[in-house]
Amino acid sequence: MVILKVANQQAKTSKAAEQLICAKEARIVKLTEDVDFLEKKNADLQARYTALFKLNHLSQECLDLDSFYPQVHNTIASLMTAKNFFIVLYDQTFDTLEFVYFIDEKDEKPSGLIDYQDYEGSFTNLVIESKQPLLLTPELEQKLFDNYKIKQFGSRGTDWLGVPLLHNGLVIGTITIQSYDEKTRYNDSDLNLLTFAAQHVVGAMVRLQDQQRLQNAVNARTKELMAQIREREKSELLQESLYRISELTTDIELDIGTFYSKVHNIIGQLINAKNFFIAKYEHDSQTLHFSYYQDEHASNLIKDFKPRKLSNGYSELVLRRRETVLLTYSEMMSLHLAGETAKPQDDIHSWLGVPLIYSGQLLGVMVLQSYHYKTTYNQQDAELLNFVSNHVSVAIKRRELADFERRSHELLEQQVKLRTLALEDEITQRKQAEKLLQHTAAHDSLTGLPNRTVFLDLLNHAIACAKRKDDFSFAVLFLDLDRFKVVNDSLGHHAGDLLLKIIARELLAIVRDKDTVARIGGDEFVILIEDLRSNEEAFDVAQRITKFLQQPFTLDNQLVYTGTSIGISFSNKRYDDANTMLRDADTAMYHAKDNGRGRYEVFDDSMHQKVQNALSLEADIREAIAWQEFIPHFQPILQLDNRELKGFEALARWQSTKRGFVYPNDFIPQAEETDLIQEIDLQIIEKACQQLKLWQDKLGCHDLYVSCNLFAKQFFRTSLPQDIAKVLKDTGLAPHNLRVELTERALLENAEIVLTNMQALKDMGVKILLDDFGTGYSSLGYLHRFPIDVLKIDRSFISNVHEHDNNSAIIRTIVDLANNLQMATIGEGIETLADAELLQQKGCIYGQGYYFAKPMSPDDATDYIIEKMSN
Ligand code: C2E
Ligand code: MG
Ligand code: MG
Repeated sequence: MVILKVANQQAKTSKAAEQLICAKEARIVKLTEDVDFLEKKNADLQARYTALFKLNHLSQECLDLDSFYPQVHNTIASLMTAKNFFIVLYDQTFDTLEFVYFIDEKDEKPSGLIDYQDYEGSFTNLVIESKQPLLLTPELEQKLFDNYKIKQFGSRGTDWLGVPLLHNGLVIGTITIQSYDEKTRYNDSDLNLLTFAAQHVVGAMVRLQDQQRLQNAVNARTKELMAQIREREKSELLQESLYRISELTTDIELDIGTFYSKVHNIIGQLINAKNFFIAKYEHDSQTLHFSYYQDEHASNLIKDFKPRKLSNGYSELVLRRRETVLLTYSEMMSLHLAGETAKPQDDIHSWLGVPLIYSGQLLGVMVLQSYHYKTTYNQQDAELLNFVSNHVSVAIKRRELADFERRSHELLEQQVKLRTLALEDEITQRKQAEKLLQHTAAHDSLTGLPNRTVFLDLLNHAIACAKRKDDFSFAVLFLDLDRFKVVNDSLGHHAGDLLLKIIARELLAIVRDKDTVARIGGDEFVILIEDLRSNEEAFDVAQRITKFLQQPFTLDNQLVYTGTSIGISFSNKRYDDANTMLRDADTAMYHAKDNGRGRYEVFDDSMHQKVQNALSLEADIREAIAWQEFIPHFQPILQLDNRELKGFEALARWQSTKRGFVYPNDFIPQAEETDLIQEIDLQIIEKACQQLKLWQDKLGCHDLYVSCNLFAKQFFRTSLPQDIAKVLKDTGLAPHNLRVELTERALLENAEIVLTNMQALKDMGVKILLDDFGTGYSSLGYLHRFPIDVLKIDRSFISNVHEHDNNSAIIRTIVDLANNLQMATIGEGIETLADAELLQQKGCIYGQGYYFAKPMSPDDATDYIIEKMSN
């Protein structure tokens, strides 16, 4: 028992020991296991720690997310089974998802940005919305499915473990691990690890994203700056180019070809301008001329740039539209198909044309063409080309103008040259003509002698010489042929001319060579004898001339006698001009004529005095006309048988402030010579008419007439009738109360105009009297041709009637003649009763004369009328 007991005991003890051993062994096993476990755990921890450290390190160090994601995956895969792993980024702003990393055994990576809505109900969206990690076991999944909380996207797996990527409390994405097999399951520890990894991923992402953003920002800014720089450079280049073009424009010296090529060059620096041309538009011929062109294709060069008539090209389109045309090939095609243009060249890619316009005038086009797809012109290019076109237009126009100016200048020069030649020719011709003209102007065409102008020049010259030199004396001989008129009238002008020629020749023969013979009028010659040693020399010449001219000339087989009267004036200090000296010689000549012709007279002091008197008289008459100093006196005209007053003759008197009362004989001849008589006549007529009108109005003597004297030459004026009509109108006197007296002289010349004037006066009602009849020079034959009403028998017949029987016969004849012509007669100068009776006896009805009354002042005449009327 003991044994047993012992044995038992022993047995018991050994069993216990055994048990103990077992227990110990078990414990050891257990410990070993624990140690193993712990070791393993330690290793796990170690690995985790390393992994987490690595993640941390990665998140700090990695350079870009694309390489970061795979490394995160690797790291996680080193700790757990992570065959299927993906990272999704969630953009809250745009509400999108993006699978930035995706490794899956079954599914394809969803690409690009995915609308968040499109993943509605996905596990990922669940994580994003809950912001919580999610460990989806099949059981939980089932539950959620059952609750319709989720939808299946992608292939179905076992466990799905997703954690949110949280940054500043916002979900920016998820990291997910998934298993497709039963063995691979995930637990909370995995979840923690992934959560931890997620923090690092976020850290790395934020860092890298920041970095990326920064980089992007820097890049963007850099790009912006670069663009700005490029833009600035471009605009600087543009500006410079435009400036250069402007400069070119003003450089007129540059020939147009060089100008175009330079413009092309400049444009080429701004735009691709390999194919460029400038075509000028000729409006008149409607053609295009390609002034400048460059083209990549040699073949184009040959065929496209010949001058052409406007057709349906693209340049023409620009001309038509007058605006920039920018076209692509397809646009060109459309235009073509629309029938607007020709078919574009196949190789054209882009086409840009601008019109060249200057002040609204179309000058041409400028075109850029591109054959390459890389060069497409845009709006900016169009604007640029358009700008350049303005300058090109100005340049073209300026050059055209300069060209035109140059050509005009050349033309002008040529014309000037031609004109100069022509002018030289003309000048030579003109000189010759002038010479001829000078000779003609200076000479008398008939005799070839110098004329009046030349003579006066020479004479003036001599006068000037005499003034300078005391010993220089000279003489002027004034010749007037006697009876030349008779020769002319009887033998004709031809004979007259011949005579003048002969005389001229002879005169030249008589004088010395240095003397001058000139012809200054029809039959008037003058001779200038210079360097006189004595007056005798002049007398000698005068004598020889008179002697020569006393000889008869044979003209047309007829002997002709002429003769000359010569007036001589010698040089004298008082002569200042040729005209005066010539006039004096003329005066002397008249004296010679008066003294019996065929002789000479020297102008002397008495003649000089006469001339002086005549001149001062002329001056005074002029003044008197202006001052209205001429007044009429009135001499009655009576009917002889009953002494009835019929009218008055108005006779001019000069009531001169300087000279006192002047009678007509002292001023009428001078007034006639100077033609001042015309003014005087009109003043007398007007005043006489006024006076008669006054008498008519005051005294009622309406039948009286006034008879006014008119100078013969008055009848040569066409305005005479108007002048008289005006006087009548102004004074209000009836025409039949006015008579005019004219002398026979008026009837001898210009018969036509005299007749017309007389007729006009007659038509007016003014009667015409022929004054001083019988003293005249011509036959009575002309009388009947003129509408004369009354003949006034000259007083010379009456005053001598008692001494000369002849006169009484003449009076009878005149009266008979007048009666035959139905003219009345007035006897003038009746001084005695006998005169009056004789005239009456001879049949003369009217008379005037001192016997009845002298010419009276208007006042005296008034009394005379009153007295007459009272009888
Ligand atoms: P007359 O026309 O033959 O005028 C007549 C002249 O004879 C007047 O001289 C007159 O006074 C003068 N007479 C008249 N009866 C007698 C007489 O019985 N015996 C003499 N011995 N003479 C008498 P007066 O007034 O000196 O005129 C002279 C001439 O002047 C006029 O001649 C006339 O020819 C001219 N005369 C006068 N007044 C004008 C005038 O207004 N115009 C013009 N053109 N000539 C005028
Ligand atoms: Mg008279
Ligand atoms: Mg008379």
